[in-house]
Amino acid sequence: MVLDLARMKEKLQTSESGGRSSKDNAFWKPTEGDQDIRIVPTEDGDPFKVYHFHYNLGDGARGGVLCPQRQFGEKCPICDFASKLWQEGTDDSKRMAKNLFVRQRFFSPVIVRGEEDSGVKVWGYGKTIYEVLLGLVLNPDYGDITDVDSGVDLSLNYTLPKAKGAFPQTNLVPKRKSSVLAKKDVVKEILNSIPEIDSLFQRRSTSDVQAILESFLDPSAGPMIGDVGVSAPSGVDDAIKELSA
Ligand SMILES: [Zn+2]
Repeated sequence: MVLDLARMKEKLQTSESGGRSSKDNAFWKPTEGDQDIRIVPTEDGDPFKVYHFHYNLGDGARGGVLCPQRQFGEKCPICDFASKLWQEGTDDSKRMAKNLFVRQRFFSPVIVRGEEDSGVKVWGYGKTIYEVLLGLVLNPDYGDITDVDSGVDLSLNYTLPKAKGAFPQTNLVPKRKSSVLAKKDVVKEILNSIPEIDSLFQRRSTSDVQAILESFLDPSAGPMIGDVGVSAPSGVDDAIKELSA
């Protein structure tokens, strides 16, 4: 029996982070300044995953609530409520509606250069970066930037907001030269250790989402059903700001 070092590492990380689950460790967030990353190809041929969240629903739903309608084609009480508010047409109701409307968030598996030992992480980003990435893939000069033999690393520059209320900026530049993802014998290991992104977010039923909405609208009505939302490490404000990053 050989000790499972990856498992031991995970246990240590969980312990060091005060018991936060390994789900928290699955995410990668850029730090201010420059870093190089490599997007890892997924088996289904689409490493740019789209998710739909509602934010601003109070502390009980920090990290956002997956929208049952946009994500799974089921009825969504928050979407219904937000469009009703919008139709009311007052300044207040429209502002609140905007806060509750569904927002897209994008996730890709990545290897962070210099931190290869940490394995594949999940990077969450906003629509601007999503479109940059798709643009690269569709640009014949680059093509499949995730190819394990001939893809390219991406230089990512991240700037924290200087003023209160401003947004962080993410800038992506592909390397000029293509490179391998990793040494041949390591590539397989990397491809086999891509986190299951779906499993990082809690799927909620229509009635659970209804309960979250009711509890948000009337906090005195009692405890909310279900656990704290997504395990994404950021707070609500951060999550909103990152949408524009
Ligand atoms: Zn919704």
